[in-house]
Amino acid sequence: MGGERLRVHEFLPHSRANGPGVRAVIWVQGCTLGCPGCFNPATHSHAGGELVRVDELVERIAALDREQAIEGLSISGGEPLQQLDALLALLQRVREETTLSVVVFTGYAREEIAGMDGADELLACVDVLVAGRYDASRPVVAPSDLRGSENQTVDLLSGRYTLDDLRMVPPAEIIITSQGEVWVSGVDTVEW
Ligand code: SF4
Repeated sequence: MGGERLRVHEFLPHSRANGPGVRAVIWVQGCTLGCPGCFNPATHSHAGGELVRVDELVERIAALDREQAIEGLSISGGEPLQQLDALLALLQRVREETTLSVVVFTGYAREEIAGMDGADELLACVDVLVAGRYDASRPVVAPSDLRGSENQTVDLLSGRYTLDDLRMVPPAEIIITSQGEVWVSGVDTVEW
């Protein structure tokens, strides 16, 4: 499965605003769900971003685990489940080869995910699943539990975290990259 490739919008090695602790974050490229008011429209095209081999992603993530003791990996988008085969290949290897926790943000609701081929295998690799379309008319008032809107659901699939752990996550962060770019990242970036 290491020959799979994931279409990636961005890889961030260190974030505090996308799940508990310091985490690597992958924003996948491509989403057709079209939530009005989506905060990340640049991730929508399935033709954009960069195709990256799962092997390469696993190497980068495992090195962060080994050398910098990060807490986990978060997957956001774009829509991760529109690349389910590659995502499953990635998360199964992360589970096998690291001790990192895994948080997945998806626009699909739990009922929709249940009907997908490979859903059970995928969910077995996930500690926290934030699921459902983003509804800009129903924002979650801080402190959030990683949901962007109230209609979304949070599933603590492994027992590794509690809702209180999620509520401790900062709602947003500002990152200055080595190229001097300024990014705003996190669940509640609207006011930033
Ligand atoms: S699922 Fe996420 S990336 Fe896709 S349109 Fe909705 S908010 Fe935007």
